[in-house]
Amino acid sequence: MITRNPCISNIKAGYLFPEIAKRRREFAAAHPESKIISLGVGNTTEPILPYIDRGLVEGSRKLGTVEGYSGYSDEGLLTLRERISEVFYKKNFASDEVFISDGAKCDIGRLQLLFGAGVKVTVQDPSYPVYVDGSVLIGAAGSWEDTGYQGITYLPCTAENGYFPDLSRIPVQGLIYFCSPNNPTGAVANREQLTELVKAALNKKALIIFDAAYSEYIRDSQLPKSIFEINGAKTCAIEVNSFSKPAGFTGVRLGWTIVPKELKYAGGESVNADWSRVCGTIFNGASNISQAGGLAALEPEGLKEIRKLSDFYLGNAKLIRSALQNLGIPCIGGDNSPYIWAHFPGRDSWDVFEEILRTCQVVTTPGSGFGPAGQSFIRFSAFGHRSDVEEACTRLEKLKA
Ligand SMILES: *Cc1c(COP(=O)(O)O)cnc(C)c1O
Repeated sequence: MITRNPCISNIKAGYLFPEIAKRRREFAAAHPESKIISLGVGNTTEPILPYIDRGLVEGSRKLGTVEGYSGYSDEGLLTLRERISEVFYKKNFASDEVFISDGAKCDIGRLQLLFGAGVKVTVQDPSYPVYVDGSVLIGAAGSWEDTGYQGITYLPCTAENGYFPDLSRIPVQGLIYFCSPNNPTGAVANREQLTELVKAALNKKALIIFDAAYSEYIRDSQLPKSIFEINGAKTCAIEVNSFSKPAGFTGVRLGWTIVPKELKYAGGESVNADWSRVCGTIFNGASNISQAGGLAALEPEGLKEIRKLSDFYLGNAKLIRSALQNLGIPCIGGDNSPYIWAHFPGRDSWDVFEEILRTCQVVTTPGSGFGPAGQSFIRFSAFGHRSDVEEACTRLEKLKA
């Protein structure tokens, strides 16, 4: 029979979320009377709000008419690309610098094709798993060792450094994944910190893939929502973003990626032209129905709904955070992001996960699953129905003893 891609065998066994699901199933089987509440996964729970939903319905209906029908939209509907540039980037990007995708995660995976297996990858530690696992899949990283994947530079983000890493270890001509507001820590880099990041990338001739999937959760107006608010970023950064978390499009699938025309490889070739080529080769564009929903989301009524939905989840985050603080558990995040990062010093993340599951019947995410520096942390997600979050917060009081 055919042989397996050796890169796949390098991926760490027991990927985080299947392992959590397995432990949840086992607990539920042993305690059939228990009512488990999940504050574990980063999946949205609330319905799409009416104006945006109408956009999706209309988009679908149009496809059933002669006048409204459309086929492949390649790099995305022109109107949507222009509207994204206007709403999020003060029209700083031409429509052919905005690429519509079926989601940020999918684009993060495809973007790796631009740099090949020889690229040196740097991540914040802890980080969203696709940055490292995607690197393993294309052969840019080796097998799992005790402290992470071989060949990846992990930059610890800890309480000591205010969850912003020491950038001096970024390799020359490397690829840096940076996520702010951060999943899992909920930390948001400020303007000075992102300026430092851009400077470091320019000095090292490195490229930043900036993941801004939670930018619409930023409430502090001083905090940057995009890497392109920083001077110099157009020559060293790509930004990925998504409708998943702000508009509840996790199941609809719609995102975008900004690739500035100023961005050049070491040899002077255009990254933008290559990205267009990659998208045309292995991706045929996002659904026209999703894009109609995206257009509705970016109209004034839709933007109000984005605000309302993200406010709702931030309200959950506030409840979770104060429940943890009342217990004296140190935590960050939750103000400008839907995640709370809680510290249980000296303890193993999976042990704490098990304790919370057993004592409170609440599913969380063990921080160690996001990287070595996540050890002793637990991530609480604010994606949940309000009544579930309230009930979970009450149950967390049982951790007191
Ligand atoms: C949820 C999430 C995304 C969004 O992925 P989609 O594929 O657009 O649903 C991207 N980055 C991070 C860090 C996320 O948590």
